[in-house]
This record gives sequence, C-alpha cells and structure tokens, in this order.
Amino acid sequence: MADLDALVVGAGLSGLACARALKRAGARVMVLEAQSRVGGRTLSEPVGAATFDLGGQWVGPKQPRALALLREVGATTFRTFDEGRKVLEVRGRTSTYTGTIPSVAPWKLLELHRALRTLERHTARVPLGRGHATPDAARLDDHTVQAFAEAHVHSRTVRALLGAAARVVFGAELREIGLLWFLHYLRAGGGLLSLTSIEGGAQELRVVEGTQSMSLGLTRGLDVQLGEPVRQIAQDASGVRVVSDLGAYRARFVVLAVPPPLVARIAFDPALPAERDQLYQRFPMGATVKCLATYAEPFWRRKGLSGEVVCPDGPATVVFDNTSADGREPALLAFVVGDAARTWHLRPPALRRREILSAFARWLGKEALEPRLYVEKNWSEEPFVRGCPTGNLGPGVLSQLGDGLRAPIGRLHFAGTETAREWTGYLEGAIEAGERAAQEIEERL
Ligand SMILES: Cc1cc2nc3c(=O)[nH]c(=O)nc-3n(C[C@H](O)[C@H](O)[C@H](O)COP(=O)(O)OP(=O)(O)OC[C@H]3O[C@@H](n4cnc5c(N)ncnc54)[C@H](O)[C@@H]3O)c2cc1C
Repeated sequence: MADLDALVVGAGLSGLACARALKRAGARVMVLEAQSRVGGRTLSEPVGAATFDLGGQWVGPKQPRALALLREVGATTFRTFDEGRKVLEVRGRTSTYTGTIPSVAPWKLLELHRALRTLERHTARVPLGRGHATPDAARLDDHTVQAFAEAHVHSRTVRALLGAAARVVFGAELREIGLLWFLHYLRAGGGLLSLTSIEGGAQELRVVEGTQSMSLGLTRGLDVQLGEPVRQIAQDASGVRVVSDLGAYRARFVVLAVPPPLVARIAFDPALPAERDQLYQRFPMGATVKCLATYAEPFWRRKGLSGEVVCPDGPATVVFDNTSADGREPALLAFVVGDAARTWHLRPPALRRREILSAFARWLGKEALEPRLYVEKNWSEEPFVRGCPTGNLGPGVLSQLGDGLRAPIGRLHFAGTETAREWTGYLEGAIEAGERAAQEIEERL
C-alpha cells in the first residue's frame, strides 16, 4: 500500500484539527490515538441530568477558532454565572467583594495595579509565540514568577492573590514557572486579566454539550485509530515508519500532537537532536484536580453569592458556580492545583471529599455538605496526558531552547497547545497549532 501523506499522533483537539485541515487539502491522513477515546485534555461526561466538563471547559469571546468549531459541530455556548458577591479567604480571614479584583486595603490595591502594569509592560515586548526572541530574553529568564512577585509586591495578601491566579492558570507553583514562559503565555492569551476573567476573558462561556464535542465532531470523515499508543518513530530520506502497540505504518510526514513530556517517551530513530530532548526534559505538565459537586438547588445564589471563591491557601484555590445551562444541575467546581494537587490527592477519597465540601460550606453555606453527586478528576493520573492544563517551562529554558518549541525535525512536525502562537495552553491554541502544523506539511506535499 502507498505511504500515507501524513500520520498524526494524538487525537486531542490539536491532532484532529491538523488531520482535518490536511484532509481538506486532499492529503491521505490517519490519526493514531493511545486512548480508547478522542479529546485528550477534554472529557465531557454526564453527571446527574447534565453533561459536565472534567477537563478544559471554558472558551472566551477572543477565541475565534474555538467558537467557529463549536458552531460548526452544532454545540451551544452559554455564559458562565457570575452574579453576586465573591468570597476571598486569605490566611483564614474571609471577606466578600464584587468586580474582578478583590477588595483589599487601598495601598495593597495600588501595589496590585502596579505589579499588573509592570507585567503588561514586559508582556508587550514579547513577540507573539516567540518568547525566546524577546529583547533581554536571557535576563528575564533568569527569574521565576516567584522572584518577580517577591521583587515587585510587598503585601503578602497581594502576593497570595497573584499566586492564586497564576497557580490556577498554569497548574503550577510560582517557583516552578520561568518569568519568560509566563510572559510568553500571557502574550499569547492577551494578558493576565484576559486569562483570569469571566467577562470578556477566557472563562466567559461554557458549552452545553461539553468541549469534547469539538473533537468528536472533528472525527467525522477522518481515519482515527483508537487504542494505538505510538512507541517508535523512525525516519529516513524516503519517509517515516511509525510503530504502535497494534501495527506499523508508513507516511511521508508525521505530526506529533501530544503533550511535550509524552513526545520524549517515544523512541526516535535517529534520536531527537540533543537540544530538543533537553527541552522536553525540562517541560513538566502542570498538576490540576477538578472537583465537582452537584446540589438540589444553587443555595449560594439565594444569599447573593456568585459561587466564586479565591482561597490562595487551598487546597481548593478557586471555586466557580458550575450550574448546567438549564439550571437542572446546580453545581460548584473547585480547582486543586500545584503542590496541593500533588500531595492532597494521596489522601483517602472520603477525606478529600469532606475537605472540599467543608470548604464550600465555610464560604457558601452548610447546604454544601449535602451534595447530590461529587466527582473528582486528577489529570496527572492520565497515562497519556500526565497533568494539565498545560506543560510549563522553568527559568532559563525558553531563552535557551525555545527555538525548538515547534520547529520541524526532518519529516516530523509538531502541534499541541504548548506549541501554539496564540492562546498557548488553551483549546484555541490547540486548534491554532494543529492548523499551523497542517499548513507546514501542505507546503511540502
Ligand atoms: C482540568 C483542565 C482544565 C482546563 N481548562 C481549560 C479551559 O477552561 N479552557 C481552555 O481553553 N483550555 C483548558 N484546558 C486546556 C485544554 O484542555 C488543552 O489546551 C487542550 O485540550 C490540549 O489539546 P491538545 O490536542 O494540544 O493536547 P491533548 O488534549 O493532551 O491531546 C493529546 C492526545 O495525544 C494522545 N497521546 C499521547 N501520547 C500518545 C502516543 N504515544 N500515541 C498516541 N497518542 C498519544 C493523548 O492520549 C491525547 O489524546 C484545561 C485542561 C484541563 C485538563
């Protein structure tokens, strides 16, 4: 049989968007997926009477590819509920506030605004998708986000707030995130407020059918083989040989659309260039556990509360009202991230459940102790994802090795949200990266 034009490894949103674009361009393309389902870091499951997203769930108004794909697959978006007062708990002290930024003392607020302005100034100097080409890249990359926060923010409360925002966005602690990677990521998504806001930001819209509907829709007309983890890839001048657990295939080009640490678990012949392997050795996935509780009624709304909580001390760092669009499944959603996700998850399930529900009760009312259903999803347990929402670079990596984020290696091309120029780490970025990799191959066919 003639070689395929392209073989795509990974049936997440990025791999499928890539395969669809290649197919539309007339290429013979196949997708190999390790798991028994498509969608990767999206997983939409029925919980009670509604479908809930246990992985990526929000899209924003500035994400045209994701919105267009949702329309195309016939999915319906609805606005994230955020009416009412929000709760802030810092070092055991609880207060409520309205608006985007918590009500803290005026001098602390000033410091927060000053830190955000400094970040905006640095972010504006990052070329889109090319953090390593930022003027002064090496100097910025000497620092972690933690070091930046310590240098620019003296108030412990403000530092805690910035920390909570960054930890949830990256699934990582501030000491783990390189400042240059942070700025590269902020630039891709329009800044820290764009990444952390509901109104006008990355959390504005949810999807009735769940975001996995995007990947399920994309599979129509595509040749997608499930349950086929790719283990070996060998390339020479004539093409590429790909070996999975179930078979061997030949293609002119291969697209790797898997999380960066998973790329390095494949055996390459010839071996990956040293600098690319060094990059993957330094690309750990974030750690995030999603905890969802459904209730007979949205009792917090009755009290004028939006359901949104920020608690930098965790284990639940942020909470959202996650009620279904039709209101039939009132729900709260908590994110356990970074250190907390790695250690907290070792506790017995009953203890974890009690801890999350007691925190909900402390902030929103004792009714929280009696959910209809409680569901947790720890993404670090997924053998072919190993963490989320994204892979992150520590200090010193992007400036030295960032050239290799998406550069092809011979006949190998690279997709996946971490390689995106726009909305790195997000669903939008996954689509953008997949379509960009398809374009690269189209130019070579
Ligand atoms: C809890 C959580 C919350 C998130 N929240 C949001 C959000 O609200 N909004 C947003 O925009 N984004 C969010 N994200 C991020 C978003 O889900 C991801 O950016 C996006 O899904 C990544 O798509 P991808 O195709 O690049 O990678 P993936 O979805 O990881 O797809 C990679 C695929 O490759 C497969 N694979 C891996 N190794 C192999 C192999 N050797 N052989 C074959 N197949 C392999 C995997 O099984 C997987 O299916 C969240 C993610 C999580 C998990």
